[in-house]
Amino acid sequence: MQGPPTDLAGLELGELESFVESLGHKRFRAKQIYRWVWKRGVTDFAQMTDLSQELRAALAGAATVSLSDVIKHDVSEDGTQKFVLRMSDGKQIESVFIPDTPAQTFCVSTQVGCAMGCAFCLTGKMGLVRNLSAGEITAQVRLLARSLDLLDKSFNIVLMGMGEPLHNYEATMKALRMLNDKEGLGLHPKRVTLSTVGLVPMMDKLAGEALMPNLAVSLHASTEETRGAIVPLNKKYSMRDVIEACERFPLAKRRRIMFEYVLLAGVNDSPQDARKLVKVLSGVKAKVNLLPLNAAPGIPFERPSDEAINAFAKILADRGLNVSVRKSRGRDIRAACGQLIVEGQGGRKSAAQKLAAEL
Ligand code: SAH
Ligand code: SF4
Repeated sequence: MQGPPTDLAGLELGELESFVESLGHKRFRAKQIYRWVWKRGVTDFAQMTDLSQELRAALAGAATVSLSDVIKHDVSEDGTQKFVLRMSDGKQIESVFIPDTPAQTFCVSTQVGCAMGCAFCLTGKMGLVRNLSAGEITAQVRLLARSLDLLDKSFNIVLMGMGEPLHNYEATMKALRMLNDKEGLGLHPKRVTLSTVGLVPMMDKLAGEALMPNLAVSLHASTEETRGAIVPLNKKYSMRDVIEACERFPLAKRRRIMFEYVLLAGVNDSPQDARKLVKVLSGVKAKVNLLPLNAAPGIPFERPSDEAINAFAKILADRGLNVSVRKSRGRDIRAACGQLIVEGQGGRKSAAQKLAAEL
């Protein structure tokens, strides 16, 4: 009996070659198919005109090329665009396009929701609903590139949408391989930044990968006590553990780890916090990205004043740290960091708790 059609958009080139072979065709045909899917954004086999009629018919009978539905598309006053995508099981995720920062950037999700429960993050409030597959992670890139006419242009990707990428490690790495393939988008790993809340064993695993993205680490505090109060994972992997993992993380020449630091008024934004942060980062090739809180209903914190933000940044800069303050993009359409949440699909507690317990 024939099974369900194979989704070619979820396959790496090697897997696609085996699939084409299983249909009784030559392996090299897979490269042509890969190019159609990735370089030209084609989903209909009839349009793959350099394949034989016979292969096209075989593909139509045994395969699909999925593309998620866009169910909402908002454009912010500042040019940021938010796409709400619906996947085949009806679950929804969000992807964001941020123009000219200085390159075009796609902010991509790796999970529906997130199990980590950081106290200031709306996605964390959803709990983990499920992991995305590599095909679903990369589909966001195909869809945005196609919709925005950027398939043959260069762009950057930040894994800073919904979810914790290192909590969905295998699918995330497979997605990077699929995006990197030269028959497809040929996206260099230097164009990808993976942001993690600090899953130390997975950071060590990442350190051994052939395709190594830039690393961003969500630190958010300069003492164990403060970090423990806002990042539940700190109980399992302390700030010290995370910093040590950063110290041993291999970096290419002139590369630095980006430390993200959400600024919360009265919690971690004092001059003393800034001075401690300098000490904490003294052994790491670091740059710091300050993220003034994007406030939202249900988030029990406040954004510091501009004066407090600038004073904090100045202390770091005066002590020689490379520091930037993230401009909050797309706040009017709730596309800014930590504002990604799709209502009405909170994780069933049991599933989310089970995964959280595995950490
Ligand atoms: N899970 C990963 C990546 C996704 S979140 C991580 O935590 O690193 C991307 C960034 O947005 C993280 O640094 C996160 O701490 C930050 N963020 C979350 N909620 C935020 C909020 N309300 N305001 C500003 N930044 C926020
Ligand atoms: Fe998850 Fe990152 Fe949000 Fe923390 S900040 S809950 S790790 S998405």
